[in-house]
Amino acid sequence: MRQRLVSLRYPIAWPVAPPREASGWIVALGFLGAHLVLPRLVPGLAKPVSLVLLALAPLLAAAACLMHRRGRGWTALVVALGLWSGGMVADLYEYLVPGTASGETSLSMLLFVLYGVPIIFTTASPASEHWPVRVVDAVLALALGLLFFVHTLSYATMAGSSPDGAANLRLMFDIENLFVVGFALMRFVTSRAPHDRDLFGVLSLFAAAYMVVAAYINHMQETADYGGMVDILIDLPFIVLLLLVWRRPGPRHDRAGLSASHERLAQAVSPLMLPATLLAVAAVLLHAHPRWAVAGFATATLVYGLRNVLSHLRNLAERDRLSLLSQSDPLTALPNRRRFDDVLCREWARARRADTGLALLMIDIDHFKLLNDTMGHPRGDQYLCAVAAALAGCARRTSDLVARYGGEEFVAILPATSAEQAAELAEIMRLRVLDLALASPAPIGRVSVSIGVGHLARIGGEDPETLLGYADRALYVAKHDGRNRVRTLTLGS
Ligand code: GH3
Ligand code: MG
Ligand code: MG
Repeated sequence: MRQRLVSLRYPIAWPVAPPREASGWIVALGFLGAHLVLPRLVPGLAKPVSLVLLALAPLLAAAACLMHRRGRGWTALVVALGLWSGGMVADLYEYLVPGTASGETSLSMLLFVLYGVPIIFTTASPASEHWPVRVVDAVLALALGLLFFVHTLSYATMAGSSPDGAANLRLMFDIENLFVVGFALMRFVTSRAPHDRDLFGVLSLFAAAYMVVAAYINHMQETADYGGMVDILIDLPFIVLLLLVWRRPGPRHDRAGLSASHERLAQAVSPLMLPATLLAVAAVLLHAHPRWAVAGFATATLVYGLRNVLSHLRNLAERDRLSLLSQSDPLTALPNRRRFDDVLCREWARARRADTGLALLMIDIDHFKLLNDTMGHPRGDQYLCAVAAALAGCARRTSDLVARYGGEEFVAILPATSAEQAAELAEIMRLRVLDLALASPAPIGRVSVSIGVGHLARIGGEDPETLLGYADRALYVAKHDGRNRVRTLTLGS
């Protein structure tokens, strides 16, 4: 009976709240229907009515983006749609206020052409980049917008009269649209993160629809004025966008199929996209506006160079940070076992060349397992840090190295040191740890360490393992003799 009640709920709920995809289709088809019918209801006002609807189409898509998608990249798309809608409003203004034709034509052309700039910026400048690099990318995108504008302005006024001007203008729109599709597709194919794949997938489809429609209108319908049936075609890319964002995004997991090397390649190539576009647009301008073209070439080259310097600096800083991280112990911040191995090899070779002694201390906290078991692991960690700091504080020579060997064991490399000096330092370390007075369940009531000193007065045919073996055996003796003491083993003893 209960089962039946549950299944009955759906037929009742359906008409009230249609699924998300269905309501997207209702809005899209409703809008297209309105655009089809309204201009024909008032034939004398077909053009302004159609212009209003054309200004609304991108705003509708922008509202759908704001409602259904969040985060970086989507804002740039919303800005782009706003600019495009502004272009249509400028056209409407020109129609409603006669006599402003040339100025308004420039404004609407500027807005149509600038629409691509935020999209190009968001596809060509990965959000993961450091902010100075993104500022440089923004400068390149603005330079691109400026060149687009110079180009548009010079031809817009003669577009009606000169076939050359109109052809050049079309060429520039084609270049811009092609670059937007290319950039979006490249980012889509090479992105792994679900957010980026969703954004660039939607952007690719929208930009492709926009490119096809713009090419058809610009090349095949160049003489047609607003208000005709062909205006419905102009709505289509925005309706495609609306439907795409109304749909739920795909599964939210990373794309496993894409290899890391492909992604790295895309990341390395993508910074080229903005300067490449700038160079292409500057090349188109070369004949009509050589000065602007040269300025475009110079900006593309210099700003791209600056971008490289900035990202190289960041990479170097990152390399140093990672190298430091890979050589230090995360808990105690002392050098780790990897660094210890490197330094031991280096000091070993140096001691052999200089014919000097080399000492190695192996330090182990006494009854540490018991301490962990009774006082808890977090307290054990605290004590490990305190002991590490105390030991490091005892080694004053810059050539000495105190490292965490693993677990509750530490090591110290003491170059050019005699067995007596090494044992003396070991004793200082033992007393310093006792002075910390860290409460412990060990028989003496506080944390203590046992230290084995391995020493080689001169290095012959042995290897570093020999010295480590000496220190280890000396530590074993110290433990065996009752802990909280120092024992020394030198070559030949
Ligand atoms: P001994 O006096 O013979 O050295 O006794 P012990 O208990 O110190 O020696 P054992 O090697 O048996 O135990 C070492 C313990 O150190 C075991 C492990 O729980 C503890 N330990 C190792 N690494 C860490 C760590 O990073 N944090 C904490 N809290 N404990 C650790
Ligand atoms: Mg141990
Ligand atoms: Mg121990």
